[in-house]
Parts: sequence; C-alpha cells; structure tokens
Amino acid sequence: MKRIAVVGGGIFGSTAAIYAARAGHEVHLFEKESDLLQAASGINQYRLHRGYHYPRSSDTARSAKNADVSFREEYREAVIEDGRHIYAIAKEGSMVDREAFLKFCGEQGLHIREIAAEPYLNPDMVSLVAEGEESWMDPEALRRVVLQKIRESGVQIHLGERATTETLKDFDTVVLATYARLNELVPPEAGVIQEYQYEVCEKPVVRLSGLENTGIVVLDGPFMCADPWGKTGLHVLGNVVHAIHATNVGRSPIVPENLAPFLDRGLIKNPPITKIKEFIESGSRFIPALAQAEHVGSLFTIRTVLPRLEKTDARPTIVTKLSDRYIRIFSGKIGNCVEAAKEVVALL
Ligand SMILES: Cc1cc2nc3c(=O)[nH]c(=O)nc-3n(C[C@H](O)[C@H](O)[C@H](O)COP(=O)(O)OP(=O)(O)OC[C@H]3O[C@@H](n4cnc5c(N)ncnc54)[C@H](O)[C@@H]3O)c2cc1C
Repeated sequence: MKRIAVVGGGIFGSTAAIYAARAGHEVHLFEKESDLLQAASGINQYRLHRGYHYPRSSDTARSAKNADVSFREEYREAVIEDGRHIYAIAKEGSMVDREAFLKFCGEQGLHIREIAAEPYLNPDMVSLVAEGEESWMDPEALRRVVLQKIRESGVQIHLGERATTETLKDFDTVVLATYARLNELVPPEAGVIQEYQYEVCEKPVVRLSGLENTGIVVLDGPFMCADPWGKTGLHVLGNVVHAIHATNVGRSPIVPENLAPFLDRGLIKNPPITKIKEFIESGSRFIPALAQAEHVGSLFTIRTVLPRLEKTDARPTIVTKLSDRYIRIFSGKIGNCVEAAKEVVALL
C-alpha cells in the first residue's frame, strides 16, 4: 500500500483518487477550492462526447466513444440520457463539409439521422441538419455522486487546501491533476514542463424558450453551440471565437486582472465583463430564437489545450509518469476520466 497525494479535485483528480483508493492505497485528495468540481469540470459545455464533435481528429473521436462506456458505468446518475442532440454543418466557413461529416460518422460507427428541417435553425446557414446520439452531464449531480464515491472509497479529502511542494514531500506518489495549473508543482528533477494553450473562457447562461432538452452544435469552425445547463431548464452557450476573453501559450495562464475574480466562482449574475452581445449576434444567425434569449449570468473558467492543434482540434488525454514519484494527468474530454484513472492505478 502506498501513500498517495492527488492534487486537483476536478473530475480527473477525483476519479483517479477513487480508483487509487479502491486499489488499496492510502489516498489524500487536495483541492484548493472549498468544493469539488469548481473549475473546468463544473464549468464547460456539459457534452458527454461520443465523437461527433471531432470530425478532424479520428483519434479524439475514437477515444471519446470508447471511454464513454466506462464513464457511464461509474457516473450513471449524472448522465442526462434523454434529449435531442442536433449537429449542423455551416454552409460557409466550415472545415468539414456535409459529405465529409456523414462519411466520418459512418467510419466511426456514430449513428446520425438527417432531419429535413429543424425549426430552430436557419436553413439558409447550414448544409446539413442531423440528430446524433449523445448525452450531457448534469454538473450538480456529478459533484454529488463524485463526493459520495470519494467518501465510500475512503479517500481523505482536503478541501480548501492548496497543495505545495512542502505538503507533498512525504507522499510516496503524487498525482497532478491540476489542469490549468499543471506546471506549478512539477518537480525540477522531472524536467518536463510542458507548454499549453490557455483560454480564459466565458459560458453565458441563458433562458431560451422552445429549446428544452435540445442541444445544437454548428460545426466545424468558428461557430456556436447551445446545450442544456444540467436540469435547470437554462442553456449554456458556446462560441469558438467569442467565448475566449484572453489566450496565451506558455507555462501558465495569463489571466486579465479584471477577469480573475470571476474565475471558477459559479454563475456570475450581471457580470461587468461579458461578450453576451457578440454571442447573441453571431449565434442568432444560426438560431434566430437566440435574439430573444434572456442572459441569466455567465460562468468563467480556463480551458487548457495542447498548443498548435488548430488543424485537427484534437483533445487527447495523456497520463505521464514524470519521475519515480510524480504522475501527471493532462485531460482532454471529461468522459475519458475513468480510463485515465485506470492508467494512473497501473502506474502506481
Ligand atoms: C469552456 C469549456 C468547455 C468545455 N466543454 C467540454 C464538454 O462539453 N465536454 C467535455 O468532455 N469536456 C469539455 N471541456 C473540457 C473539460 O471540462 C476538462 O478537460 C476537464 O473538466 C478538466 O478536468 P480536470 O479534473 O483535469 O481539471 P479541473 O476541473 O480544472 O480541476 C483541476 C482542479 O485543480 C485544482 N488545483 C489547482 N492547483 C491546485 C493546488 N496547488 N492544490 C490544490 N488544488 C489545486 C483547481 O482548483 C481545480 O479544481 C471544456 C472545457 C472548458 C473550459
């Protein structure tokens, strides 16, 4: 039995902690916020990806589809199964056309059913409207079920505790699952600082009548999406361009001072900084009903991706043994967290 510290109480760190404890280790989970899943794991687009979203990266699509099974087994209570998942291809500016998307779905074994007309989408803007078979995650339910499993598996949880090199010095193994802060605790002897691309993102939450239980994604380029925000009846908007307030490639994120207080703080009502106008203007070209949407507030967090992958938009999950004592989880899609946890256990 080893003494293991897992740093980061997002879905990847929490799941790794649960699996390590089930494997018989003494596990301590450190999360600097006062609750679990407050950062990217609680603030995202809530899609349990099966692959539809990644027609330019068959690796990402394949790994999302494969991982989907184990995520559902572990976190079934947090998966929203019913609902309509509409995928559309933009007529102009898309990096993948209608035929290529349908071919990709066929090759990946992704069921897709073309729809003649979708009332919420402007037919002049899209060359394909189709329904796929996907699911969403309910962030509140996910937080509850993760906490319950952490307790059941015997993980010792340290909420509100920022781990430092000093905190970690007496553990046999340290698992870093800190996403936007992955480089902060990498020990010098491991010598493997990785550059990432950081994006300070806004997710507007809106009241949007008519789209209940429906998610719409316009592919494949600088477009938009709208998905249910758990079971609240509200929608979360995504926009490949306007969601990003600041971006940098480097060892750590550069967060504009005026946005820092809002990061990972849940729903900010009447945020003093918002791109809601841009979201509505560009989004309503595809979904006209967006023009009447009521802005309820916005969520802010940092997205961390590998740099220079714009061509494929790939989102790999990579578990790396950095040294005798350190393991790093770089996370791609949430559905991959159980498979990543199994990889961590195999490395312990
Ligand atoms: C805008 C956006 C939309 C997305 N949409 C989707 C989607 O629809 N579907 C999907 O599958 N994925 C999506 N993703 C990606 C997904 O959200 C992330 O890959 C995933 O949530 C990251 O999980 P994590 O556990 O690695 O990181 P996080 O959830 O960010 O957790 C890391 C934790 O580490 C903690 N921490 C950092 N440093 C320390 C320290 N020193 N001590 C203690 N704690 C520390 C932080 O407080 C944080 O809670 C999206 C991401 C973003 C940002």
